Amino acid sequence: MMEIPCTKREMDLFESVAKAARQIGVPAYLIGGFVRDKLLDRPTKDMDIVCVGDGIALAHQVARLLDPSLKVNFFKTYGTAQIKFDDTEIEFVGARRESYRDHSRNPEVEPGTLEDDQLRRDFTINALAISLNEADYGKLIDPFNGLKDLADKLIRTPLEPGQTFSDDPLRMMRAIRFASQLNFTILPETFQAIIDNASRIKIISQERITDELNKIMLSAKPSVGLDLLYRSGILKIIFPQMVDLVGVEMLEGKGHKDNFYHTLQVIDNISRHTRDLWLRWAALLHDIGKPATKRFEAGHGWTFHGHDAVGGKMVPRIFTRLKLPLNEKMRLVKKLVELHLRPISLTKENITDSAIRRLLFDAGEDLEALMMLCEADITSKNRAKVRRYLENFELVRERLKEVEESDRIRNWQPPVTGELIMETFGLKPGKLVGDLKSAIREAILDGEISNNYDAAYAFMLKKAAELNLTPVK
Ligand code: ATP
Ligand code: MG
Repeated sequence: MMEIPCTKREMDLFESVAKAARQIGVPAYLIGGFVRDKLLDRPTKDMDIVCVGDGIALAHQVARLLDPSLKVNFFKTYGTAQIKFDDTEIEFVGARRESYRDHSRNPEVEPGTLEDDQLRRDFTINALAISLNEADYGKLIDPFNGLKDLADKLIRTPLEPGQTFSDDPLRMMRAIRFASQLNFTILPETFQAIIDNASRIKIISQERITDELNKIMLSAKPSVGLDLLYRSGILKIIFPQMVDLVGVEMLEGKGHKDNFYHTLQVIDNISRHTRDLWLRWAALLHDIGKPATKRFEAGHGWTFHGHDAVGGKMVPRIFTRLKLPLNEKMRLVKKLVELHLRPISLTKENITDSAIRRLLFDAGEDLEALMMLCEADITSKNRAKVRRYLENFELVRERLKEVEESDRIRNWQPPVTGELIMETFGLKPGKLVGDLKSAIREAILDGEISNNYDAAYAFMLKKAAELNLTPVK
């Protein structure tokens, strides 16, 4: 009997793998992330299979049984193969034995036994195997007490941890990622080995580092992984701007909050409301401009004037370095960082409609995301204060809604277009057209003229006259 909770479909798949393995005479096992996640009752789509023999041959045999038209992707050098069956990725590998020489990322690999293969896996919880063989079908094979570590929520390496991490430093990121994803603890001597080997992370490609970083960002409480990255010394290497946020400075008895731990709390806060990776990145980066703008004003205290704009400017550089996409997602993060103080400024008394219209216009369709970030940015320990701030934002939301309903400013385009300006005055595209266009937009946003064609057209003529422009017709 299987020791893991499975659907009928999964059971049928195991049977097919078992049958194929029998046909070509290789013992096969479920292993790795699939077994771990099933035992934890987490959703999982990748099925990891190891066989004592040729993994690629097994993959082909399984494909033949399931559906002869299935495509088998395989990598001869690594002895691995994949089949995508409906939405399950089945990963095959031949059991192997790995030995690493110093300072090389590429181990010497030779065929091995199931035990060899379990021994080369990164953590005890990732080394659990379940037999698909007739003699002991469904039996759990757990040489390193992975089951107990699963129950105790522990990350531990099967081999000496220093060796494990030095052999493949990506495992340090994986340890921290699993701690964050699963809310597990890294065993103290395992964590010490990560600290000792932190600088080895430099030999890992940025893509793989960022993959793990994003998985940390997507965990329920990203602060767990980010704090471990910091405390291990890895963050300093892969993302030094974050580490610049750490710490509190005191002058004249005045301190400021620790912007690193504040930031971690903001990410946790926003993560309770959204699974969107990019909103979480915006939370991570919202105060990234603070170290560069920090000043002490005598008699007043610490200020971070302009950290929103400076932070926004840093976003493309950080995305480039981390090899995050340089597309509209990056632009969203940048925009949110730049605008993150604006809703707070609207919680003051006597806010005009035009200030509200400006934010509606500048935030556009990202207004809701911006409000979510601002609410997450409240990290006071004083509950009454938190409640008051949230109520203030509620009022801002109401004002925004009222003004939006009467003015429809979001996704708004001024009623006079650049084409019309060019046509009216016989102009070519250029600065003059842009200036006229933005003067009209500003006048409407400021409430100086109403938001309609006639008012905008009249204003355009007036402005143009000031610039000695006359209509061509
Ligand atoms: P997830 O799929 O959530 O990323 P996973 O543990 O399944 O987590 P995979 O990359 O799918 O990770 O790898 C499958 C299995 O292969 C792991 O469970 C582990 O046994 C082994 N493995 C993966 N990467 C490494 C590594 N760097 N060192 C040692 N073993 C690894
Ligand atoms: Mg996996």
